[in-house]
Amino acid sequence: MTPPLTADPAAHVERALCVLAHPDDVDFGSAGTVALWTAAGTEVTYCVVTDGDAGGFDDTPREQMGPLRQAEQRAAAATVGVTDVRFLGYPDGRLELSLDLRRDISRMIRQVRPQRVLTSSPERVWDRIGASHPDHMAVGESTLRAVYPDARNPFAFPELLIDEGLEAWTVPEVWLGASPRADHAVDVTDVVDRKFAALNSHITQVSHQPAGRLEEFVGGWMRQTARAHGLPDGRMAEAFHVVHTA
Ligand SMILES: [Zn+2]
Repeated sequence: MTPPLTADPAAHVERALCVLAHPDDVDFGSAGTVALWTAAGTEVTYCVVTDGDAGGFDDTPREQMGPLRQAEQRAAAATVGVTDVRFLGYPDGRLELSLDLRRDISRMIRQVRPQRVLTSSPERVWDRIGASHPDHMAVGESTLRAVYPDARNPFAFPELLIDEGLEAWTVPEVWLGASPRADHAVDVTDVVDRKFAALNSHITQVSHQPAGRLEEFVGGWMRQTARAHGLPDGRMAEAFHVVHTA
């Protein structure tokens, strides 16, 4: 069934902030969309909550995995026009809703002052278990709690204003990836090579697969998304639940 097209996202924004749990999350779900935004002149910042030190398939020593994955995420970001990549350093695989995480995301929002935030859905996708990693849902919910009310309320985490001089900021629009109620599809067919380049920058995560397997898998998934949202045959899309939060 085609979901109803209820979302009406802003056509263009100056600044966008993407808050995701792991290095590579933004690339699987959203790198095509980000490539279109940066091409249109939007300044995009990535905030990656963990260093992804529980990921990977080889015998890379665990203490090397964090720095390696940070470097991979910076390389992936560069392929879609993003140079501002920040890491919060939380432990991979053990994220929980916490006031510390809310404060750290609120700080990021007040520093970047984005008109649009992209994050993971806090709601589970029931037909694809891998879409709803607990870290992703924890980051999605924490980010929404930071968007409302913390970042816009000068009395929430008062140390951000008093000690760091960070004024309150209201984010008007949030895009949720991997949502069971996605209502806005972005046609990324024309920038798909840049998305695949971004994905292939995550060498520790993808190099165990035979050449072309990733493109086949992710391409098939994006074609299915395009079809579900009524785009013409052969197009590829990334889909989001767009929420107005002003
Ligand atoms: Zn992830």
